[in-house]
Amino acid sequence: MSERWEQVAQAPLAKPQESADVAIIGAGPAGLTAAARLRKLSPEAKVVVLERERQAGGIPRHAFHQGYGLRDLHTSLSGPDYAEKLTDAAASAGADLRLRTQVTGWSADGALELTSPGAVAHLYARAVVLASGCRERPRSARMVAGSRPAGVMTTGTLQQLVYLNEQSPGTRAVVVGAEHVAFSAVATLAHGGARTVAITTELPRHQSYAAFRWGAAARYGTVSNSRTALPVTPLRVLTRTAVTEIHGSERVTGVTVLDLTRGQSRLIECDTVIFTGDWIPDHELAVSAGLVLDIGTRGPRVDGALRTARAGLFAAGNVLHGAETADVAALCGRHVAGKVADFLGGERWPRAFVPIECAAPLHWVSPGAIEIAPAFAGDRAGEPPAAPPRGHYLLRAREELIDARIAISQDTRALGSARLPRVMPGRSASLGTKWVSAVDPSGGPVVIRVTKARSR
Ligand SMILES: Cc1cc2nc3c(=O)[nH]c(=O)nc-3n(C[C@H](O)[C@H](O)[C@H](O)COP(=O)(O)OP(=O)(O)OC[C@H]3O[C@@H](n4cnc5c(N)ncnc54)[C@H](O)[C@@H]3O)c2cc1C
Repeated sequence: MSERWEQVAQAPLAKPQESADVAIIGAGPAGLTAAARLRKLSPEAKVVVLERERQAGGIPRHAFHQGYGLRDLHTSLSGPDYAEKLTDAAASAGADLRLRTQVTGWSADGALELTSPGAVAHLYARAVVLASGCRERPRSARMVAGSRPAGVMTTGTLQQLVYLNEQSPGTRAVVVGAEHVAFSAVATLAHGGARTVAITTELPRHQSYAAFRWGAAARYGTVSNSRTALPVTPLRVLTRTAVTEIHGSERVTGVTVLDLTRGQSRLIECDTVIFTGDWIPDHELAVSAGLVLDIGTRGPRVDGALRTARAGLFAAGNVLHGAETADVAALCGRHVAGKVADFLGGERWPRAFVPIECAAPLHWVSPGAIEIAPAFAGDRAGEPPAAPPRGHYLLRAREELIDARIAISQDTRALGSARLPRVMPGRSASLGTKWVSAVDPSGGPVVIRVTKARSR
């Protein structure tokens, strides 16, 4: 054992115990916005935000393009400027931001276990908000055959490489996936001097806004970067196309793509492969808290007030589902703050929850439960269930459905219906809440299904 390791091994670990009114896990847009709002609603409350990184702000810290803050701040900022604004708002509202502090689990008596350089500690909080975000599934989880050369990464890693470390990602890239974040990857690749030679998706169409796709094509279809002086090439979105194999020993040399319509394979030469989308919530703390994950979102199941099945534990932002945009996560944080303030003010936890399930080809709905009011609900007895953030449910499908007729039922009873212009993967449709008040607290799960739709 080296001298340094001996010192570390012998150093006594401080295990201070501390308490707070609210602990927020994660200083991304959801956690920071929740903290700022909570301090306004409950000025006496001690609100601690726990963040494992050296800097607060979450993912926007390393997404340098514009477009952050539209819905929550009503302006368009770069990711870092947006992150800084939200951090300043939380700090100036009086939230206690603890950086380099990882929440590693729960003690047997319900405290949060914290690890920061040189110390471990227990934090007892009356309410906890899980705002740990989501991540893209790495290549290893996507079952793509081939070797394991350098040059294969997710968009999150790409952004850190290019913007935080100012390194070049490569010169010719294939981007796998075609939701919003794929076009963000194209922008980041161009910034780092790499040309995107193809975007692939197994679906018949990209899942972003047409403006993003055409904007990216117009701006990044050609790369005139002084570092690389790359020739002019159109940006290609290859639909109904799967990446089936990655080639290269030390560095990627190409990918095999399969045209799913014609059944033909071909090689695309590239030195970089970016896996985008295919999100998985950072749900480890939800699992270790004993919560059941929603089968569709893989996040903790919550009701409209973002309450989980564990009393005092709320969840907000992208830990609830695959990625929504940052402003949507921030508004979710604002929503949860009001509900946490009600809880601190004495509102009782629901007795139980009625789950909301989706029948295929629908994929998930969020929030995924409706609360059953406690036996004694005080002044709030008889009130309708809590409305979800921004007043609607988020709904996604596994395939693109046009003019979808939606039926909502419980057991054999129809609760309501809706007609949605488009339900798809990678981008949420909004489902209204009129049907919620008809839910029977003693009935079975609510089921959302498609009765009629056109597919592309
Ligand atoms: C590559 C990429 C590009 C994107 N581009 C855009 C875009 O252009 N525009 C847009 O609006 N949105 C974009 N998004 C989506 C946007 O970044 C997210 O919606 C937003 O950041 C979600 O906020 P959040 O607070 O839920 O989670 P995050 O921003 O992910 O923040 C979660 C925080 O929790 C911390 N954390 C997690 N676990 C722990 C723990 N156990 N202990 C302590 N801290 C913990 C993390 O370190 C992180 O800082 C992009 C996302 C990605 C991945």
